[in-house]
Amino acid sequence: MSGTTDPRAPLDTQVVVVGAGPVGLLLAGELRLGGADVVVLERLTEPSQESRATTLHARTMELFDQRGLLDRIGPMPPCDPRGHFGGIPMDLGGVDSAYAGQWKVPQTRTREVLLEWATELGAEVRAGHELVALTQDGDRVLAGVRTAEGRTLRIGCAYLVGCDGEDSTVRRLAAFAFPGVDATRELLRADVAGIDIPDRRFERFPDGLAIAGRRPDGVTRVMVHRFGRPAVRRTAEPEFAEVVAVWREVTGEDIGSGTPLWVNAFGDARRQADRYRMGRVLLAGDAAHVQMPVGGQALNLGLQDAANLGWKLAAEVAGRAPERLLDTYHEERHAVGRQVLDNIAAQSAVLLGGGEVSALRTVLAELLRHDSAVRQLAGRISGVDLRSAGAAGASDRPWSGARLAPAELVTGPGAVTSTTQLLRAGSGLLIDTDPDAPGHAELRAQAALWADRVRVVVAGAAPDSEPARLGAVLVRPDGHIAWARAEGPAAALDALRRWFGAPRALDTVAGAKGRAAPGGARTARPAERTAAGPAGTSAHVPPSRRQKMGTLENKTALVTGSSRGIGRAVAERLAAEGALVVVHYARNKEAAEDTVSGIRAGGGRAFAVRATLGAAGDVDALFDGVEEGLKEHTGGVELDIVVNNAGIMGGVSPEDTTPELFDRLVAVNAKAPFFIVQRALRTLRDGGRIINITSGLTRFANPEEIAYAMTKGAVETMARHYAKHLAGRGITVNSVAPGVTNNGGEIFDDPQAVQFMAQLSAFNRVGEPSDIADVVAFLASDASRWITGAFVDATGGTLL
Ligand code: NAP
Repeated sequence: MSGTTDPRAPLDTQVVVVGAGPVGLLLAGELRLGGADVVVLERLTEPSQESRATTLHARTMELFDQRGLLDRIGPMPPCDPRGHFGGIPMDLGGVDSAYAGQWKVPQTRTREVLLEWATELGAEVRAGHELVALTQDGDRVLAGVRTAEGRTLRIGCAYLVGCDGEDSTVRRLAAFAFPGVDATRELLRADVAGIDIPDRRFERFPDGLAIAGRRPDGVTRVMVHRFGRPAVRRTAEPEFAEVVAVWREVTGEDIGSGTPLWVNAFGDARRQADRYRMGRVLLAGDAAHVQMPVGGQALNLGLQDAANLGWKLAAEVAGRAPERLLDTYHEERHAVGRQVLDNIAAQSAVLLGGGEVSALRTVLAELLRHDSAVRQLAGRISGVDLRSAGAAGASDRPWSGARLAPAELVTGPGAVTSTTQLLRAGSGLLIDTDPDAPGHAELRAQAALWADRVRVVVAGAAPDSEPARLGAVLVRPDGHIAWARAEGPAAALDALRRWFGAPRALDTVAGAKGRAAPGGARTARPAERTAAGPAGTSAHVPPSRRQKMGTLENKTALVTGSSRGIGRAVAERLAAEGALVVVHYARNKEAAEDTVSGIRAGGGRAFAVRATLGAAGDVDALFDGVEEGLKEHTGGVELDIVVNNAGIMGGVSPEDTTPELFDRLVAVNAKAPFFIVQRALRTLRDGGRIINITSGLTRFANPEEIAYAMTKGAVETMARHYAKHLAGRGITVNSVAPGVTNNGGEIFDDPQAVQFMAQLSAFNRVGEPSDIADVVAFLASDASRWITGAFVDATGGTLL
């Protein structure tokens, strides 16, 4: 890539993230979830194998659950409820979270999981790319990059985020002020094989502090500090001999016979960027704040920065962010960072202090025998009580700015989900657990104007759960509460506008004078993207799908009868728009698999499910397969689009139509679609789409197909009624009526027959499956939101 220097040239990407550690990768995934193009630059050619941080706290576990990442980590990691405050034991198990406690996941594993997730979502990670220059103007940021092979290139983007750690190059190049204090004391740390010493949890000796923990693999992590020993200004990591010497001075033990695997030192430095955003450049994680990594809070704080920033920045680059949304990132996270840094500074004072802090430690230990004191500190350390800024002082509204405590929800008969599952799509949520209460129907109807950004969910919840206690609650994509019923309906609309922008209809009207998406329309993919990338690049996502975001990104679709014919074209079209498609079929497994592999080869996502419609138990069998597959692919079972396409024809005169044939036509073409819709409603998201493929024969006559045409007429009638029933949830229901369409059947090999069929259409040709698929794709998209209960003639003007 030669580089982009012309300021009028298109941008290479919308967001550049510098640093492919856990924070940068979580941010990249969040940005993709919000639809932003993102390139992650990583200086290293191979990921670091050091697991500096090994603890995930409750709030981070909730955030990972919100994105389906826990399933990817594998079996639940070991949990230790025993926390500490500056080395004074304190139980973290009482925090109000399903994930109370400390979860032990090596940082290398966290990074692997986040890399896989972000690249699957389409983030491009470039290893061996070091940021060496940075300029920004009103419209763009230009990043100068040197590759491991020694090439230089420039990447233009709308925003750049530094997630490049303590020694952040972004922070330095963009000249962020980084006030604070250098380390005065330090802990030496080493992972050592081949030693056998007792485990020690913050054991205090007369001359110092010693910590030792043997891992299942036999390696012991030791940490040691000698009281009064000042931090050393280091240009390299300490030698193992230094650790051995200090360990001996403090404990009297000799660990010199062990083999050091990794040695480092960390001090009690404390710094925080005075701003997390300067124009188009932002900081997150250790790049924004340096603190002693005590109790695993540093990594967790950084990951929570990324979760706060991702959806806001994605909305900003898409041009849908309300005024000042992006500024709230600094406001919220800088304030939280200050609180955490205070907490850590207090802990390091009592941890690393010698005899002078003994009295203080005694008093603190006494306080920590009281539940309320433990709750207060554990809530902070675990991250579950860290409220967004602006909520300070709102003590009469304990929910304000807080995260919604995860809870199970029942959305229909037998349909159990959870708040974290519902957040997986990355949109906002309005959860109504008291739907018949005065004003709630109006509230839901108003919120439907934001259906493309906020999902409205009516659900039952356990009486002591937070959704039930709040009655109705608006939740941001990061899981924080934006509004609750006690604030009143006017505040709900304010909150919807404040966090999600103008309602869709008004937005469209005002579109002409609306803000242009910064870089949105001008983004081109960097030319280098197709070049062979270093290890860890986004090999999972073929180029065709990475080049643009479709209209159905993050949607899920079921297309019945999509192994061949019209259904196959519909499945391919919806997948090309970004939907994960369930390819349903009855008998022809090979054709279904061919459809799935064709979609995957084009960079789309699909899986096949077999179920014979018209047979006993058909709909249950279908949905068992659909939900199992969806769960595997998305972690949830929710559908956005249902296309009732599978159908059979009669092809016999009325005289020869037997009751058995009639029943079969009704069972497959009319009864199955009715019960498919009924069953789908349990998991169909608000704002969803139901599209039925009917037939032009409901409008013009063909005596060979009376019974068939009757079944299609029944489906069109069904669509009208369901449309009325489901409008309150923003779900549209429409029918598309094809005329003669080349489904690859034998008759289309007969030129005379084709000529006869062609002249029925005003365009003098037979329809192609793609003619129908395009109409279905439109009805599946947000662009059709104002059409429901409609019959769309897609017969190419047959018999006009
Ligand atoms: P097609 O080529 O015959 O394909 C039918 C699809 O439906 C196949 O995927 C088939 O699966 C599936 N299917 C058939 N019977 C099923 C059953 N009992 N249970 C589950 N799946 C079943 O169909 P098409 O011509 O594309 O037609 C698609 C839709 O458009 C139908 O509803 C049809 O009535 C309507 N339509 C078609 C035309 C036309 O000219 N083609 C015109 C107007 C309307 P297997 O592969 O496993 O058999």
